[in-house]
Amino acid sequence: MIVVMLENTWYKALEELGSSMPQSSTLWLDYVSYAGEDGDTLHLTCDSVMVRTNFEKYCKSELERVMEELTGRRINLDINITTDEMIEGGDDDEAQEVETYHDNRASGRRSLLNPAYTFDNFIPCENTLFAYNAAKAIAMHPGVSYNPCLIYGGVGLGKTHLLESIGNYIEKEDPRKNVVYVTAETFTNDYIQSLTDKNTSQFRIKYRKADVLLVDDIHFFEKKISTQEELFHTFNDLYETNKQIVFTCDRPISELKGFTDRLKSRFSRGLNINLTAPDYETRVAILKRKCDDKGVRIYDSVLNYIAENIKTNVRDLEGSLTTLIAYSNLIGSKITLEVAQEQLKNIIAAPMAGEQDISIGSIVKEVSSYYNVEVSEIKGKKRTAIIKDARNTAIYLTRKITQYSTTEIGTYFDRDHSTITHSIDKVEKERKTNAELASALDALETSIRSKSR
Ligand code: ADP
Ligand code: MG
Repeated sequence: MIVVMLENTWYKALEELGSSMPQSSTLWLDYVSYAGEDGDTLHLTCDSVMVRTNFEKYCKSELERVMEELTGRRINLDINITTDEMIEGGDDDEAQEVETYHDNRASGRRSLLNPAYTFDNFIPCENTLFAYNAAKAIAMHPGVSYNPCLIYGGVGLGKTHLLESIGNYIEKEDPRKNVVYVTAETFTNDYIQSLTDKNTSQFRIKYRKADVLLVDDIHFFEKKISTQEELFHTFNDLYETNKQIVFTCDRPISELKGFTDRLKSRFSRGLNINLTAPDYETRVAILKRKCDDKGVRIYDSVLNYIAENIKTNVRDLEGSLTTLIAYSNLIGSKITLEVAQEQLKNIIAAPMAGEQDISIGSIVKEVSSYYNVEVSEIKGKKRTAIIKDARNTAIYLTRKITQYSTTEIGTYFDRDHSTITHSIDKVEKERKTNAELASALDALETSIRSKSR
């Protein structure tokens, strides 16, 4: 009688499962090895309770079914833990946690992507076409070109929308790909939790098993050096195996403070795309699209009014619509231009009144935290490069955002009128040739305006 070793069948079964089961389940098979056999029992080994629990929960019965198909007889799978590390540390809590993560992934919605963000409902324009096309190319061929990729720009300009569109597209086209979408904040919290639980291996499984890693808002990592260290290794691991990595940030990498140089150099590798505000026509088109999506009709005059007045933040465009629709539903009245003007007066202030509402103090405060210098230094006499830049930026933005005269601004900054004019001219000139500066100024302006509401 020919005795066919189960070992070969085991590898065949793995191959079969690899193509039929979601990657979120087969993930655990990578941590399980063949350890021997005994009649109809196949001995397997792994190195943690976590892996064993999840193997038994997600893979075992399916594997036994396939093994039975391949051999024509019932095969028992017996899995043992062979290192002592996890036997001691592997309490139920730990296994439970991984299960929760795994349950999320196995329950249809594999990652935490918002299904509403797709390429179809992103309306590109000249300013955003490059970012849009690059994101699409990445989604169609992850890990091939444009890797890594960074999309940066001000608040509410569609960074998250594009990032999640990449994830949604890949999950739909190739459900076997393990897409991990995470905000920098969640990544940090996950990492801290794994340290608290003395269980960084779970953390690493989650992030380093990604085929596509999407990290939103990396400016959040500022000054978090040990999380940056972990991200650096995650990055290297994924990059070396041609896994796709996409980040978003509210400013160009060169403007990030409190980052290790080596991580900055990793970020700036690959494609860096600046996402800027859409033009007027596109703002109207976005509003129309959002109306269609919500199944409402709003007069063109109202949409034009919103688009004319909200220029630097698409989220605020949407917010205005939501306000008007809610009002009209509650009051049962049509949304006329007058209704819109009245209802949106807190969002869209008349230029004079609204602009004066923003104090110079709030501008300086925002600029000081952006440049990581003290407010007193901006107003003071020091002339180091960074303080001078921050001071010029604050003066420029004050002139741009408020109605204060250069003399009034001079009084605040304790400088004469001509110094103020010189600072404004300098920034004005520089922003024309320096795209990074232009984008930083836009981001600051958006943020100052949104905080003043
Ligand atoms: P960010 O991450 O840059 O702060 P979001 O991606 O959250 O901005 O975008 C804010 C809102 O604006 C989202 O609801 C998004 O769908 C919408 N949005 C931004 N840009 C566009 C666009 N070009 N077309 C359609 N919707 C957009
Ligand atoms: Mg975002």
